[in-house]
Amino acid sequence: MSDKLKIAVDLHMHSALSPCGDSEMTPGNIVGMAVVNGLSAIALTDHNISYNVPAAVEIGKELGIIVIPGMELETAEQIHVVCLFPDCDKLLEFQKVISKVTPDIPNKKEIFGSQLIYNSEDEIVGEHEGMLLVSTTITIDEALILAESFGGIAYPAHVDRDSYSVLTTLGALPYDYKYDFVEISCVCDINKFREQYPDLNNYKLMRASDAHYIDKLQEANTFIEVDTVSPHGNIEALKNIYSSNKIKPFFYFFSVCFISFNIYYGITLYNTLSLSDFNPFSRTSKENYLRNHVINYDFFEYINQNTPKNSVIYEALTGGRSYYVERTFYCDTTSLDRYLLELADKGASKEDYDKYFRNLPNSDLAATHILIRPNDFIKLFFDLYFNQNDPGNVENSKKIRGFVEFFNSLKLLKENAGVCLFGKK
Ligand SMILES: [Zn+2]
Ligand SMILES: [Zn+2]
Repeated sequence: MSDKLKIAVDLHMHSALSPCGDSEMTPGNIVGMAVVNGLSAIALTDHNISYNVPAAVEIGKELGIIVIPGMELETAEQIHVVCLFPDCDKLLEFQKVISKVTPDIPNKKEIFGSQLIYNSEDEIVGEHEGMLLVSTTITIDEALILAESFGGIAYPAHVDRDSYSVLTTLGALPYDYKYDFVEISCVCDINKFREQYPDLNNYKLMRASDAHYIDKLQEANTFIEVDTVSPHGNIEALKNIYSSNKIKPFFYFFSVCFISFNIYYGITLYNTLSLSDFNPFSRTSKENYLRNHVINYDFFEYINQNTPKNSVIYEALTGGRSYYVERTFYCDTTSLDRYLLELADKGASKEDYDKYFRNLPNSDLAATHILIRPNDFIKLFFDLYFNQNDPGNVENSKKIRGFVEFFNSLKLLKENAGVCLFGKK
C-alpha cells in the first residue's frame, strides 16, 4: 500500500490585495472558508504580488491548514502563470524580482478596485499603490525557470480560458514545459477540452477555483498525493509525482544566468528568444496548428499581411494580446476593458472616442486599427450599467450612441463570428 497522503487542494485564489478580489477576501476569511470546505492545502495567488501571503500562512498554522505561498504572475505575453514556493522568504525574494519587472503605473482604484494588505489579525495595514493588473516583462519561459530557481514551481493557469491562457495566446504549452499537468478553471468541461486539445491528452488536469469571492472557493474535489503535508511537500508532489522528466542541469544554469542578465538590463526576451522560432510541431503544420488552436489567429494573419508595419492595433474583448501579432499591440489592462466602458458610461460622443483612440492612456500611442467584438461590448455595457429607471430607454440608448456612431465611421476590414477589425476610412 502506498504511504502517500491524498489531500484536497485549491491552489489558485485571490485576496482583496488583487484589485479584482472582493473586499471579503481577507486572509482570515479565505483560510476559514478553506477549512469549512474541507481543504487540506490552499495557495493564495494574487496578481503579481504576495503581501497578504504571510498573514494567510500564519492564520493557516492556527487553523491547521497548509497555505502555500504563491503568486499569479502575468507574463510579457499576457499569460497567467501560477507560481508556488516552499516558504514566505523564498516567495518574497521572488517578489523582489517581479516588482522590478512590473511597470510602474499607479492603480486607479475607482476603476480597478482597491488593493488592501492585511496582518494576521485580519486588520488592514496598508494599500498597494501600483497597478497590479499589468503584464510584467518576464516571458513565460523565464517565469518557469525563475520560480524554480527560488525552490518553487510555476505552471500555466486556467489553460481552458479564452483570455490570459497559454493555449489561446501561444496555441501550445511552452516548448520546454516539463511537468505533466496543467491547471484548468472551475468551469472547464473536461471532455470538450480533451477533444479540443488532443495533444494534451497525456497531461493531467488540475482544477482550481481562481476564487475572487469567498463563496467561490473550491470544495474538496481536487486531490494530490503528498509525502508530507507542507508547502514543500505539495510542491515536490506537483514536481515529482506529476512530473515525468527532469530539467537538464546545464540548460538550467545557462537559463538562470541568462535571466539574471535580462532582468539586470531590464529588457525582455520577447523578441530575441521567440517561441515562433521553434515549436513542437513540424514546420509545415505550424500555421494550420495555430489556426486551429489560437483564437482569432485568422485576424492576426490578416493584420500581419495587410496592415502597414507601423500600425498600432487596439484590442478589446477578443481574448487579450496575441503573441503572434507582428505589430504594436495595445489592450486594456483588464479583461473587462474598463477604459472603453468608462467612456460609454460617461455618454462619450463620437469625437470623444476619436480623441481617446488618438491618444491612448499610459502610452504615447495612437490606434490605427481596432480589434473588437462590438456587439458583445454593447451587451457587456448594458449588463453592467443598464439604468432601470429610464422609461423608454432614452438615457440608456443615448449613452451608447457615441460608441455606435464612432464605429460606424470606421472601415470594417474583416469580420468573423462577432469579431471585427476596423481601420480608418
Ligand atoms: Zn488568471
Ligand atoms: Zn487568478
